[in-house]
Amino acid sequence: MYKLSKSISRLRIKCKNETHGCAATFPLSEEYCHSSACLFELVPCPHQGCGAQVLRRELETHAQCCEHWRQLCHMGCGTLLSLQTQGQHNCYRQLRQDYEAQQQTHRAIAAALQRKMRKMQNTMAHMKRQIGLICESLEVMDSQEEVENVGETSSSSSSSSSSSSSS
Ligand SMILES: [Zn+2]
Ligand SMILES: [Zn+2]
Ligand SMILES: [Zn+2]
Repeated sequence: MYKLSKSISRLRIKCKNETHGCAATFPLSEEYCHSSACLFELVPCPHQGCGAQVLRRELETHAQCCEHWRQLCHMGCGTLLSLQTQGQHNCYRQLRQDYEAQQQTHRAIAAALQRKMRKMQNTMAHMKRQIGLICESLEVMDSQEEVENVGETSSSSSSSSSSSSSS
């Protein structure tokens, strides 16, 4: 049994990608190893959204015309390049553009905040006026009550102070 399995594993088989042009033969045990590296294996294009099935050996040629090819700038500026933008990409120009765009959004945010602040200040001033009016009317009511209270106490005790305040 051991011998049999050994001879099976030694049996050389043809690559399943023979139809694509692979002429390799190898022991059965190495099939997985071969197919994961076989240049004639159909593999999906690694670029997101492409979905093309390409022979492994043609991946590079495909990448040169793949619409979905994306790669971060190798200079490290953080820009995701496509085939269209890759040719004219200039890190410095890109960074300056990004910076200016950011400045613009910051300015827009600052302006919006200022508008909001002004609105709040207006509301606060309005509320202050309202509160002032309420306070005034409360004071009027208080002094009226005081007058009434003083009048009541003066009527019961009839002191000299009440007569001066009522006149
Ligand atoms: Zn192969
Ligand atoms: Zn592709
Ligand atoms: Zn760059």
